[in-house]
Amino acid sequence: MLKELQPQPKDKILMLMEMFKADPREQKVDLGVGVYKDANGVTPVMRAIKAAEKQLWETETTKSYTGLAGDPAFAAGMRELVLGDAVPADRVAAAATPGGTGAVRQAFDLVRMANPDVTVWVSAPTWPNHVSILKHMGIPTREYRYFDDETCAVDFDGMVADLDGLKAGDVVLLHGCCHNPTGANLTLPEFKKVAEILNAKGAIPMIDIAYQGFGDGLEADAAGVRHVVSACPESLVAASCSKNFGIYRERAGVLMAIQEDAAKTAVAQGTLNHLNRQNFSFPPDHGARLVGMILADDALKADWMAELEEMRLGMLKLREQLAEELRKLTGSDRFGFIAQHRGMFSRLGLTPEQVEKMREDHGIYMVGDSRFNVAGLNEKTVPLLAKAIAAVDK
Ligand code: PMP
Repeated sequence: MLKELQPQPKDKILMLMEMFKADPREQKVDLGVGVYKDANGVTPVMRAIKAAEKQLWETETTKSYTGLAGDPAFAAGMRELVLGDAVPADRVAAAATPGGTGAVRQAFDLVRMANPDVTVWVSAPTWPNHVSILKHMGIPTREYRYFDDETCAVDFDGMVADLDGLKAGDVVLLHGCCHNPTGANLTLPEFKKVAEILNAKGAIPMIDIAYQGFGDGLEADAAGVRHVVSACPESLVAASCSKNFGIYRERAGVLMAIQEDAAKTAVAQGTLNHLNRQNFSFPPDHGARLVGMILADDALKADWMAELEEMRLGMLKLREQLAEELRKLTGSDRFGFIAQHRGMFSRLGLTPEQVEKMREDHGIYMVGDSRFNVAGLNEKTVPLLAKAIAAVDK
């Protein structure tokens, strides 16, 4: 019966990585996969992570199971980091998951348990894995307009018009900050308006936040999430530690379910634990424990924040440098949006043919929808990218 299995479509980003490796040209730039890299092209282990690992090695006495929701210090630390004091702690149920993807997957499972007829609304475009997991689970989806290919900014009027079609019990998936794949983000007043619409329609927000600290800073990046969870009676937040703690392979994430009161929160906590048990039992501990240790220790936290801020400012500088190069090359502000976008990605609004031309003629690799990874650049490769963009954009 296993011979009935059909080949699955290959992941486009992973295919791009293979093509890049096989390209014999010396001058080539990989702006595909979403991993932070420093100016030398290295994805570093952050200093605070190394220090916490050393401390853990010296003090850990057992590798026995944790609780089903994972290390409580991790959950408490992440609740504070993402939600601040937007809602009282007794309204937040939280469980560790295998990465942010695990949190997203558990959230979809949870909403389907609560409402078997749920429709999940996603931005057009969104992180492709959102759509692919929903499809895999057989959950119906709808799209709301989000990115305007002409202006490369958020089409907020389009988004508001589309959300008018929400039904009570629908779920609206939002990106907390640093929208993947576009880099175009909602402003705080726009988050406020979205929360109002959702409340009026009886729909529930689900916020995926995978890049807190990569945009305008740890606090500013959480402002939209914090507003939405405080304004809506119920919400879900899926957070990833992969990027901002640089622990991609450790698989650390958390799903938080915010309820109206403490009694309902206890039920949500039981449901999160149950879902973990059904899908993988105990969540991975190592990365989550390091994050919990860092967030609970003033010195480690300060060092982590300082290093994260260096990474953020580095990406911002590259954005500004690229926008400036393009201003000079094109004599226009057509690509000024690159400096307005935030996070690791920007979508350039180029056609798949133009993206292919950049790869073939200039050795520049980016995803077919013209998303590029800002952190894949450095001071020397920015001018190469600018020239290639200007050349294909004629
Ligand atoms: N959500 C979004 C929007 C992402 O871009 C990512 C990372 N690519 C994730 C969730 C999850 O990341 P991870 O599972 O590696 O923590």
